Amino acid sequence: MPMNYQKILDEIYDEIQPELQHGKVADYIPALAEIEKGQFAMTVTLEDGAVYSVGDSTKKFSIQSISKVFTFTLALEIYSKELYKRVGVEPSGNAFNSLVQLEYEHGIPRNPFINAGAIIITDTLITHYKDPDKTLKVLLYFMRKISGNPKLSIDKEVANSEMEYGDRNLALARLMRSFGNFENEVQSTVMTYFNHCAITMSTEELSRAMLFLAFGGIDPVSKKIFISSSKAKRINAMMLTCGHYDASGEFAFHVGLPAKSGVGGGIVATVPGEMSIAVWSPALNKYGNSHAGTLALEMFTTKTGLSIF
Ligand code: GLU
Repeated sequence: MPMNYQKILDEIYDEIQPELQHGKVADYIPALAEIEKGQFAMTVTLEDGAVYSVGDSTKKFSIQSISKVFTFTLALEIYSKELYKRVGVEPSGNAFNSLVQLEYEHGIPRNPFINAGAIIITDTLITHYKDPDKTLKVLLYFMRKISGNPKLSIDKEVANSEMEYGDRNLALARLMRSFGNFENEVQSTVMTYFNHCAITMSTEELSRAMLFLAFGGIDPVSKKIFISSSKAKRINAMMLTCGHYDASGEFAFHVGLPAKSGVGGGIVATVPGEMSIAVWSPALNKYGNSHAGTLALEMFTTKTGLSIF
């Protein structure tokens, strides 16, 4: 018998309510500090494009580090294995914005999902597209195609607010530059990174955008091939091992799915061969991952038995 996903999401919605006030919104980005806790949305998209949602599933939020999945996808498509000369593929076990590891590992970030790694990915894209604006245009074009929303946009207030307090990310970029691992101008590259983090999307849009990664790089609805199955495998592996910073092991242990979080409170996940999921709740746990979002995904895999293990 097919599973009743709407019923499962409705149950999660009820059970998650007591958790929504726990945690703290990301106040190190002033434009995000004002977001009200207590909000929640979750969407599941199946192979045939069927969508099941609960909560504020059309409300847009700052996708932040979830954007790193899409920039990594573009860079991997362009550079293939060459990319790994500039960024590694190991979990960091460190905070997402740590400078320490980068110093003793000679400016090569551990993976594309910590901030240093994502800034390097942005740097490789700017080198390829020859210009920061063109890079953002191509990225938005790609994300509009995979999400089915031709109007996705960047919240400039959030991007500017990050730049104003972006000393640590600028420091990461400069440190990498000092080791010779940087190709473009630091300020505009980091600003491009802040811009892609400041794209706003709803859980419905994000879940739709992740569907091709749940199906080996092919959108199962349009049948369009976005990336090879071997690259889709690597992106999913990266989400599983590095998608939640220094809580990646704990997330894999409790949830058991490839997933990527962002400090805007969103998390995207794939159930390979089955579906994509997006959840949002802005209050974060001490690792910078959505508190209620993580719990909701754990409830989902417990209730459905869907996990990659
Ligand atoms: N733009 C954020 C930063 O660079 C991304 C962090 C995140 O979402 O985890 O600090």
